[in-house]
Amino acid sequence: MALLDRAIVRTLPAVPKPIVRRISERYIAGTQVEDACRVVKELNRERKMATMDVLGEEITTPEEARHIGYEYENVFRTIAEQDLDSNVSVKLTGLGLKLDHGLCRETLERLVRQAAERGNFVRVDMEDSSCTDETLQLYRELREEGLDNVGVVLQAYLRRTPDDIESLSDLTPNVRLCKGIYVEPEEIAFQDFDEVRENFVRSLDALFRGGSYVGIATHDEWLIEEGRRLVREHGRSPGEYEFQMLLGVRPERGTQLVDESHRLRIYVPFGDQWYAYSLRRLQENPKIAGYIAADTLGRLLPGRNGR
Ligand SMILES: Cc1cc2nc3c(=O)[nH]c(=O)nc-3n(C[C@H](O)[C@H](O)[C@H](O)COP(=O)(O)OP(=O)(O)OC[C@H]3O[C@@H](n4cnc5c(N)ncnc54)[C@H](O)[C@@H]3O)c2cc1C
Repeated sequence: MALLDRAIVRTLPAVPKPIVRRISERYIAGTQVEDACRVVKELNRERKMATMDVLGEEITTPEEARHIGYEYENVFRTIAEQDLDSNVSVKLTGLGLKLDHGLCRETLERLVRQAAERGNFVRVDMEDSSCTDETLQLYRELREEGLDNVGVVLQAYLRRTPDDIESLSDLTPNVRLCKGIYVEPEEIAFQDFDEVRENFVRSLDALFRGGSYVGIATHDEWLIEEGRRLVREHGRSPGEYEFQMLLGVRPERGTQLVDESHRLRIYVPFGDQWYAYSLRRLQENPKIAGYIAADTLGRLLPGRNGR
C-alpha cells in the first residue's frame, strides 16, 4: 500500500460517515434482506455461491442480539423460498457473545438446527482475539452435539492457528481460512506480510492433510495460486473445497476461478449496521486515498456527471 493510502487509513475513523457510506457501497448489498437476495441472485446467475451476513457486530443490548437472531431466521426462510444458492455467516458478537454467553450459545444452536432442517449451513466468522477461545469452544460444543452443518474460521495471521488446527483435528472441521483483519499485538499475530502468507499456506496444507473441507478466503493472487497448487497436490476434486471472496473485491478474478471449475462463494453482508464492516474493507483497499479524493472532489464540483 502506498504511503498516502496508509496515512489515509489511519485517519479513516475521522472521515464523515456519509463519505464512508458512499465509498463503501460496493462492499455491502444494502440494508434489507431483499437487497441481499437481489445481489445473491445475480451472483448465482454467474455460477457464484454466496454466504449472507446480517451486519450486527455493533450491538449493545441482548434485545438487539435477539433481533439479529430473528433476522437470520428470516434469511433462511428467504433463501429457501427464492431457491438461492447461499448459506449464512454469523458473528458471535452480533448474537450477544460479549453480553450474554448463554443467549449467544442458545441462538447459535437454534440457527444451526434450523439451517439443518432446511439443508443449509452456518459459518461462524472469527472476530478479534478476545473471541477466539470462546468461538472455537462453541464450535466444538455444537459439533459434539452431532451438528455437522456448521463451520468455523481460522486466521493465518494468528501464531496459534497451526495449534488450533491440531486441536480441532478430531472434528475434521469445515474451515474458512483467511488472513485475518483485526489489529492484534505482535505477541499473538504475525505483522509481516510474508509471514502471514507462509502461515496461510502451512495451515491450508495441514487442513487438507487432515481431510477438512476448506474455504480458501483470499484475494491475494499469490495465495490463490498457492491454493490452486495445494488443491492439485492433495488431489482435491471441486466438491471438496471452495474459494471465497468478499462482495465488491476482485469480481473478475472470481469469474476466472469459476470458469476454471473451482467452486467460489461470495460473502454478501447487508443490514443497518454497515459502519464497522465498511471501515475494515476500506482499510484493506489499496486505492483508498484515490476513492476519498474522488468523492471529495465530486462534492466540491457538483456539476460533474450531471449532479
Ligand atoms: C469470504 C471471506 C470471509 C472472511 N471472513 C473473515 C473472518 O471471519 N474474520 C477475519 O478476521 N477476516 C475475514 N476475512 C477478511 C480477511 O481476513 C482479509 O482481511 C481480507 O480477505 C484481505 O486479505 P487478502 O487475503 O484478500 O489479502 P490482501 O493482501 O489484503 O489483498 C490482496 C489484494 O486484494 C485486493 N483487495 C483486498 N481487499 C480489498 C478491498 N477491501 N478493496 C479493494 N481491493 C481489495 C487488493 O488488490 C489487494 O492487493 C474474510 C475474507 C473473505 C474473502
